[in-house]
Amino acid sequence: MRAVAIKKGQSREKAAGFQEMGTLRCDGCGEEFYIGHNPNSVDKRVAEKQAKWLEKVLAEEHERDKKHSDRIELPD
Ligand SMILES: [Zn+2]
Repeated sequence: MRAVAIKKGQSREKAAGFQEMGTLRCDGCGEEFYIGHNPNSVDKRVAEKQAKWLEKVLAEEHERDKKHSDRIELPD
């Protein structure tokens, strides 16, 4: 796994080994996620794309009344 989004406020173990690339706030509920990359494959442009992807995924989850996961795997 190269990149994940992790809900803020989670235990540190879940984030261990990832470099924080930025934070995204869900418009629907205000929960914050940060994007973590594997330190060996850090890419700021990819992180920006993933932030947009994540924003859509979170909005869709609200539409479907689905709870956000604590940890979401991100596409490359
Ligand atoms: Zn939300």
